[in-house]
Amino acid sequence: MDFKLHLEPDETQADMYENVEYHDFWEGVERRHLDRLEQVLIRRMLKLPARRLVDIGCGFGRLANIYLDKCREVVLVDSSWSQLQQARETTGGRCTYIASNAARLPFRPGSFDRALLIRVFHHIPIDQAESSLDELARVLCGGGQLLFTYSNKRNLERIARWLMRKLPYNPFDPSTSYIWEAFTMHHPRTIRRGLVERGFGDFDLRGSGILDKIAGRAGKLWKWVPLGVGLAPLLGRLALAPWIFVGGEKTDTGSGGTDEAELPEAYLQCPACGGDLTGLPRSYHCRDCGGEYPVKDGIIDFREVTAQ
Ligand SMILES: [Zn+2]
Repeated sequence: MDFKLHLEPDETQADMYENVEYHDFWEGVERRHLDRLEQVLIRRMLKLPARRLVDIGCGFGRLANIYLDKCREVVLVDSSWSQLQQARETTGGRCTYIASNAARLPFRPGSFDRALLIRVFHHIPIDQAESSLDELARVLCGGGQLLFTYSNKRNLERIARWLMRKLPYNPFDPSTSYIWEAFTMHHPRTIRRGLVERGFGDFDLRGSGILDKIAGRAGKLWKWVPLGVGLAPLLGRLALAPWIFVGGEKTDTGSGGTDEAELPEAYLQCPACGGDLTGLPRSYHCRDCGGEYPVKDGIIDFREVTAQ
């Protein structure tokens, strides 16, 4: 499929994926190899069917084919308007589309039984990483599953470069670091502690990002390089791969969320004040603070918090 962007002048603010064809990122042997592995890993790790799933940082809807037919409701979130427009095409308008920042989600507590954050966490600024994890824990119901990926600060390649004194930081230092602007890496121990503190347990770990690099150097033989599905659990447990997939279950039995309702009002809340929203033809209106969140092209825009 060929997607074209039609950005309007007032929609050019968002993030690094605005104005770029995120599809292009997945071109090339290395990326295609990685994409195939990631699709398999997510299929294995994500527990389906599900009641209501949210994919935060959904991009153009790359993963929608995995969950779309197996969830009663799907909510797609991205901070980039153009990516959401593409996601809407990819999924044929079958989801709810939300433009929002991951650190301040416009959802009521316990609204979802599945939450995905794939290839997103490393783009979240360090000062928002904690609040993004808080938000994920808040919007998942008891027993709900979180599936997310992070860039592993302590991966094998970084350890080797550090031993050769070619790395400007210590990969064993548990603090979160920037590699460059808009790309952070996290230490496995810090991630685990952050998840345990927020009530997650029963972890399922996989690693990726090694065999795709070999495939990228294998020329015409790339198709014969194994995906590394069998290796992924070991790489995840040892936490030595560049990318770590973490599945975790929210172990509390807290609020079960909005089990019966189908309308977005049932699970949306004002990101500014937490108030209830009323759906109007062209916006959602907060009954408590008067905030207005416009609806355009089938996408609800929560990026500007407009509390009065
Ligand atoms: Zn409000």
